[in-house]
Amino acid sequence: MAHRITLIAGDGIGPEVAEAAVRVLEATGVAIEWDRVELSADRIRATGESLPADVVASIERTKVGLKGPVTTPVGGGFQSVNVALRKKLDLYANVRPVKSMPGLHTRFDDVALDMVIFRENTEDLYSGLEHEVVPDVITSIKVITRTASTRIARAAFRYASRHLRKRVTAIHKANIMKLADGLFLRCCREIAADYPHLIYNELIVDNASMQLVTRPEQFDILVLPNLYGDILSDLAAGLVGGLGVAAGANLGDQHAVFESVHGSAPDIAGQGKANPTALLRSSVMMLDHLKETAAARRLDEAIARVYAKGDGLTPDVGGTATTGQFTEAVIRELKG
Ligand code: ATP
Repeated sequence: MAHRITLIAGDGIGPEVAEAAVRVLEATGVAIEWDRVELSADRIRATGESLPADVVASIERTKVGLKGPVTTPVGGGFQSVNVALRKKLDLYANVRPVKSMPGLHTRFDDVALDMVIFRENTEDLYSGLEHEVVPDVITSIKVITRTASTRIARAAFRYASRHLRKRVTAIHKANIMKLADGLFLRCCREIAADYPHLIYNELIVDNASMQLVTRPEQFDILVLPNLYGDILSDLAAGLVGGLGVAAGANLGDQHAVFESVHGSAPDIAGQGKANPTALLRSSVMMLDHLKETAAARRLDEAIARVYAKGDGLTPDVGGTATTGQFTEAVIRELKG
């Protein structure tokens, strides 16, 4: 039976990379019936709703979404669609694999990186609780709860165990935020006790940042509260080739939305220059989630072969190919 998946093409380069993903997924042979819904800055501006009801209803029905980027204006304007969607569907785990791509040259060519970052997605300094105490004095409240910390820790350990990983590292600043980050660590330790076959360690976030650029190969699975997760996952994406290749997933207990880390890239939209690799790698994660494990592996390997050959790559990673030509190259590798 075909999988029903909600497709949100988004705006900017979203429709180009989403179309590439649809074509490549079709070439894997996995039967997918797309439920296409529109979510774009234009639509939000026209309706005034940051999250149209039909988009939420579709994902509630299908349980799985593949999503291109949607523009969020900086300052003013509407709320980030990503934050709204995350909250509405309780997508509490932001999962970002950070994996070297042979053939894609970076400053870290000499080490093969393969880590997965689990970022808590719902609280911390993203709770939106800011307050002007008196003029020119602002407080911004960091919320850490047992419930949210335990479920992100459990997601990280469960993934580590299922994927035969060795180590889970919790990142914190509990030496300063003794209560808040202290609670986060206690929850991680409690879950770690259920997985005695996995190594568990802890690193203070400033030290972790330095270690990520000096000895990134030591990392396997990382689990972090929201803000540290946001910053370190972009840092880690930079280690393996940047935004064009960085995949992600937002997971909850009921729903999952797969999307690239990059934004709508208005500077290159509509020019056939967008690199669809990030959304294709997000599609690999989606196939895994759908238990289409063999297809996931074939797609992952097909993308890797295109990079290893080195021709057919888009300009952001040093090539001259268009979005369409890169997509064709991946499809050829899948079928060949
Ligand atoms: P947002 O605020 O929506 O996250 P942003 O402007 O911070 O957006 P991006 O839209 O991700 O960031 O773009 C940052 C830079 O990276 C731009 O120059 C863009 O062209 C480039 N870029 C992002 N994604 C891709 C991609 N898939 N292929 C090629 N270049 C990309």
